[in-house]
Amino acid sequence: MLNISNLKKSYSGKQALKGVNLSLDRGEIIGLFGENGAGKTTLMKCILGYLRYQGQITLDGQAITRKNIGRLSFATSEHSFFPNLTAKDHKEFYSAHFPAFRSKRFDGLLEFFELPAAKLVRRLSTGQQNQIEVILALCQGADYILMDEPFAGNDVFNREDFYKVLLGILEPGETVLLSTHLLEEVEKFIGRAVLLRQGQILGDVLMQDLEERGDTLMSYVKESYQYKADRVGKALSQLSDDR
Ligand code: ATP
Repeated sequence: MLNISNLKKSYSGKQALKGVNLSLDRGEIIGLFGENGAGKTTLMKCILGYLRYQGQITLDGQAITRKNIGRLSFATSEHSFFPNLTAKDHKEFYSAHFPAFRSKRFDGLLEFFELPAAKLVRRLSTGQQNQIEVILALCQGADYILMDEPFAGNDVFNREDFYKVLLGILEPGETVLLSTHLLEEVEKFIGRAVLLRQGQILGDVLMQDLEERGDTLMSYVKESYQYKADRVGKALSQLSDDR
């Protein structure tokens, strides 16, 4: 279990995370949602140890160190691949460094996305680079796969098909924490939704519970955020008054 307890993170004195408590079990597929600036990326970077923070983050009761960090993988729109390597080179490099690297899955996903194995990654399109990023995170052999807006810039068919493929390939012990703004697209894919707002957990719900009460993810999010349906109209009338 990945356990986050009273996690606080400030940037230049401004709190981005204000005491987050969250537990992620093996095998869960969790959507992480929240407005721009809610703290989703910060949360993931704290889990991965990229940022200093206050509070505790443990993996099966142990602190996350160089010894167990390989159990976590990360796909980010900021990209973590090596731009001057090909997909094939990445496969070799990852196989050498991650004992549980999933070679067969790597080949299958490369084929699924129709990605060239021998082209330098920096020569691929942004969408294709995102795909390489996600493939690497999925093939590292990690137990906890963190994905931060992995498909910003990918076409809708690729995204939808990918979620279906992902559901088919994930093994029972693999956990996915996926941050995205594309609520409706991932609604059928995730089993649990966690909402962040201004650095705090605002909601945490199982999709099955939402379904049973006839609720959609979008309505749950809007309700939790007390979404102001007249926000756009108000802004437009204010802007037109300023003309
Ligand atoms: P988005 O959906 O827009 O990607 P997010 O939920 O991932 O947003 P974060 O990127 O975690 O949000 O940012 C949380 C808060 O921390 C924001 O107020 C942001 O301005 C601030 N922040 C993030 N990174 C930095 C940084 N490197 N320096 C200073 N402030 C930062």
